This record gives sequence, C-alpha cells and structure tokens, in this order.
Amino acid sequence: MLVLGIETSCDETAAAVVSGRHVLSDVIHSQIELHAEFGGVVPELASRDHLKNAEPVIRAALARAEVGLTDIDAIAVTCRPGLSGALLVGTQLAQALAWSQDKPLVGVDHLVGHLLAVQLEFPGREPSPAVPFPYVGLLASGGHTALYRVDGPLPSDIAELGGTRDDAAGEAYDKVAKLLGLGYPGGPIVDKLAQEGDPDGVELSIPMAQKDSLEFSFSGLKTNVMRWVHEHGKPDNDKNLRDLCAAFQRRVVDTLIGKALVAAERQSIDTIVLGGGVAANSELRLRGVELCRARKVRLVVPPFAACTDNAAMIAYAGAALVQAGGDDRGRLTISPKTILPRLTQKGGGARVSASPRPLRAR
Ligand code: ADP
Ligand code: MG
Repeated sequence: MLVLGIETSCDETAAAVVSGRHVLSDVIHSQIELHAEFGGVVPELASRDHLKNAEPVIRAALARAEVGLTDIDAIAVTCRPGLSGALLVGTQLAQALAWSQDKPLVGVDHLVGHLLAVQLEFPGREPSPAVPFPYVGLLASGGHTALYRVDGPLPSDIAELGGTRDDAAGEAYDKVAKLLGLGYPGGPIVDKLAQEGDPDGVELSIPMAQKDSLEFSFSGLKTNVMRWVHEHGKPDNDKNLRDLCAAFQRRVVDTLIGKALVAAERQSIDTIVLGGGVAANSELRLRGVELCRARKVRLVVPPFAACTDNAAMIAYAGAALVQAGGDDRGRLTISPKTILPRLTQKGGGARVSASPRPLRAR
C-alpha cells in the first residue's frame, strides 16, 4: 500500500511517500530560522508558513518517490496533538486531496507516529528487521516526554506508563539554552557543548529521583541551572559553560534512561525504543545503549531522520489505520491533545507509582 503522509503539526512542513516499512521519499521544510529570533515557535507564523510550503513539499515528495497522486492508495495526515492553526493547514489540504482522488484519508496522532518511527527503512541505510512488539517507547521531544507500552501499531495498542508533570525534555533543553544565551533550538547546542564538559564539574539535582515513579519533572532542573547562574553569573569561560551543559545533560539522560529501564522491568519487556527530537542527543544514544546493556535490555535507537518530526512516520502509522478499516473522510477533526489516554496530568496529577504487575494496553 502506497501512503502519502502529511505533517504540519508544529514547525515542520513535511510530506512523505511510504510503502510498507519502506520510505520512498521524505521531504521536510523546517521553520527553525523563522522562529529562531523569538526563541520559540510563534503559532501564527507557523500556520502562514505551512500554507506557503505545504503544496510544494507534497509535490516534491511525490516527485522524489517517482509516483503521481493517482498512484497513491491512501492519505495520512497529522490531526493531533499540535497547534490548531498549523494542524488545520495540513488536514484541509489532505482532505481536499483525498476528495479529489477518491482515496481513503486517515487522521494520525503525532505521538503514535513518533512511537512507530523506529520501524521505518530509510533509503541508503542498511535494511534492519522490524522491531517486534511489545516494546517500551521513550518519547522525548520539544512538546512531549513520556513512557509508553507499545503492543502494536494502532492507538488502542499503546498505553502511557507515565509522563512529565511540567516541561518536556526538549523544552528544558531549549529553556536552559535560552537562559544561557545560546540560541534556539537549544538541544543540539547544549549537546555539543556538553560533549566537552565534565558532568561532575557542576552540582545539579536529579529530577524526580523517586525510584518507583515513572513520571518526569524537568522544570526543577531548569530552575536549578537558573539558580546556579544567579549565584555564579553566566558562565564566563568556556570550561564552566561546557561543565554546566554536561551536568544538565547527564541528569536528563540518566533520568530518561533510568525511568525507561524501570518501566521495562515492571512490564517484563526487554526492548526500549527511542523517539522524538531529543532522541537525536549524542549522550542519550551512546550512554543510553551502555546503561541498558548493563541491565540486559536492548535500546533501539532510530536514525536521526526518524527521530525528529517527519511525515514518513505519519504515513506508516496511517497505513495501519487504513488496514484496520479506518477512513476519516467527512469526519476528520483536529485536537491540541493526544488521543493516547494520559496517566500523568501536566501541572501535577496524582503520582503514578508503576504497578508491579504488567499493565496490558487498552
Ligand atoms: P516537537 O515537535 O515536540 O517540538 P521535535 O521532535 O521536533 O519536537 O524535537 C525538537 C526538540 O528536540 C527541541 O526541543 C530540540 O531542542 C530537541 N533536540 C534536538 N536535537 C537535540 C539534541 N541533540 N539533544 C537534545 N535535544 C535535542
Ligand atoms: Mg518539531
């Protein structure tokens, strides 16, 4: 089945053509430069830019896959979670294409896409076998950070095990970079500086250190960095800056991997899969694999292209919905919220202490 995927939920306009696990084309127009001067995504600007770029990006995806619209069997579009104005651009366009081609249309949850992205085979890369279900998905991006039990490719196969009570991991990176005056997005900049720093050179607290909790909280760590800056001033030499970044990064990585390992143990699952923009982090990828190996757990790290926002993962997740008989033509809706039931409410819901019994997906 040849699926055209369309993604406009935040700051990337993306389109892809996917056949089974094979990515035939994957085109992304990033808005990073547009939002950089504001230090974060400006929703109105994002919508306008999607409107300008969605059509050429889709045309490019079809051309690179060497297919025409008539060859496409179904259209998948991100319909949640995301910025409403941004989602509307993609969903309206997808709806019009599905109508004109008389092809099935499915709305895809962006987080489900991230959790399945590991299954994709990108051109020019060594083929790898599909990752068998179930696995624990560790999703860490700019907007979301949570752990999931993934039993299959449908939203009903996926259950949240715990998420962040405040900032997402990527958001913490971006805020720390902002307060250190490093630029946007902060993740890659802090990552680079951290690689040459000493993680024990600066003392920072460990976020949500309770061993029995699968919830995250990164705003305290961010405040910790802020307090350090208040006390010591903005790092005025490269070494201090690198050490501060390294200490921050070490806390984030150890927290993410530590909690993912607790989740895997509690669910009796031996595979953890990374997803989301923070999965591009060098320390998370390298140290994460080592920490997991020491506990006899396999950490599957998708290629960079699969970690950050893309439309190939949306097409892949959409194919599963179409195969299950889904067709949202005439009733596609958008939402700022994920379809996956949330255990952790942002702003401090009841603390989730993971059940010792394996939790089945709904
Ligand atoms: P969202 O769509 O929720 O904004 P993305 O999946 O597009 O998230 O990822 C963007 C986030 O990933 C940003 O917060 C960015 O700082 C972070 N990020 C990107 N690269 C890295 C990295 N190397 N280390 C840590 N964070 C990173
Ligand atoms: Mg993004």
